[in-house]
Amino acid sequence: MTGKRRIAILGAGIMGCSVALNFARRGAQVMLFDAGSAPFCAASRWNEGKIHLGYLYSGDPSLQTALHILPGSLMFRPLVEELIGTSILPAASSDDDYYLCHRDSVVPPEQMLDYLRRVSDAVRVHPDAGRYVHDASSAAAHRLSAHELANLTSSPEIVAGFRVPERSVQTNWIADRFVEALAAEPDIALCLGQRVVAARPDSDQPDGRWSVDTADGHFPSFDLVVNALWEGRMAVDQSAGMAPAGVWSNRYRQSIFLKTREALDLPCALIATGPFGDIKNYDGRNFYLSWYPDGLLVDDASVQPPDPTTLHRPDPQVLHDAVLDKLQQSLPWVARIRSAEESFVVNGGWVFAAGRGQLSDARSSLHQRHTYGVIRRGNYISIDTGKYATAPLTARELARLIFD
Ligand SMILES: Cc1cc2nc3c(=O)[nH]c(=O)nc-3n(C[C@H](O)[C@H](O)[C@H](O)COP(=O)(O)OP(=O)(O)OC[C@H]3O[C@@H](n4cnc5c(N)ncnc54)[C@H](O)[C@@H]3O)c2cc1C
Repeated sequence: MTGKRRIAILGAGIMGCSVALNFARRGAQVMLFDAGSAPFCAASRWNEGKIHLGYLYSGDPSLQTALHILPGSLMFRPLVEELIGTSILPAASSDDDYYLCHRDSVVPPEQMLDYLRRVSDAVRVHPDAGRYVHDASSAAAHRLSAHELANLTSSPEIVAGFRVPERSVQTNWIADRFVEALAAEPDIALCLGQRVVAARPDSDQPDGRWSVDTADGHFPSFDLVVNALWEGRMAVDQSAGMAPAGVWSNRYRQSIFLKTREALDLPCALIATGPFGDIKNYDGRNFYLSWYPDGLLVDDASVQPPDPTTLHRPDPQVLHDAVLDKLQQSLPWVARIRSAEESFVVNGGWVFAAGRGQLSDARSSLHQRHTYGVIRRGNYISIDTGKYATAPLTARELARLIFD
């Protein structure tokens, strides 16, 4: 380890793993801590993988959320491909998303269309638009004609529909590639099964060396500590002398990851804006299905939310049936997914957000996501990942800050 900077990275989700790979490739000696028995076993493996262009955040008409998310999402594909050494296109959806406006949406259809168009304008003029999952430099949002909408749904709950050029990736596939890349990197030591409880400066100088305490041991003398613990982040920040700022919430969400026997030619559709659901068709056979109220297990505003293994979970089959029933009420073609179903898994993770309230409330601060990112105290850095889609760019920018 001589001559190399010793860096502790806390949390082996997409954030911690992206930081670890960037740092190790720039000559650091990295120790990557996680409570799990493997990297990528939490939210970064079990999410929808929407590479947000900002269309989802019509509840923030200021466009601040969309503009905050956009640079990271546009760079997701090239940065991840560099980190894992292969194309992500086999794991990416290849068609546009349908955004369907629910009659109880917090944003009415005309306003939604205006918002989607303004997001498209922002995408088109961005210098990295051509580097998105597909070339988004001519991004546009189209309102569906009555005929086009009728082909998707006859439900009175859906009052309008739009087509937007957004893509998603199968997060399980990406997770496996990251795990391989970590294993191939000699300067990353995995410290798994280690629950981090504190990080403290070794002296009274935060610009000096830092130690990490886990439930099982003391790891002293790091040149830098990076906290990417997601739902576990703020408790360790407190031990490091950083007070939690503002409001926040931790919501534990479960969804259905379903595989069909044969390929189905079905669209990706999302019901917006509020506590509804969506269907992601990645490649014809692998689907993500969610219905927000059924999948939400816990909404918790404590600094350290409960261990997910202690949460009371519904029977997976019961949740599967409830989610598919709700989606099918609005989108009758869900019946085709049901009849071709081969297998399913129920899984999920925490969603930490610097906001609170109900998605059904237009005034809830959950509709805004434009404050996340990196904070620092001497040689201790804490990262609110914010979104899966933007983590690789945050990691790249942090590497530049530390090494350039
Ligand atoms: C259902 C669902 C759908 C989502 N959909 C999208 C989407 O479409 N697009 C998008 O951009 N984002 C989405 N997200 C959000 C996205 O999943 C997260 O922003 C992202 O995965 C967080 O990455 P992370 O590396 O910070 O956290 P994680 O992947 O959770 O990694 C944190 C790691 O820290 C470990 N850990 C926590 N506390 C401790 C501790 N005290 N000691 C040791 N280890 C600890 C955990 O075991 C975990 O491995 C979704 C989330 C959910 C749950």
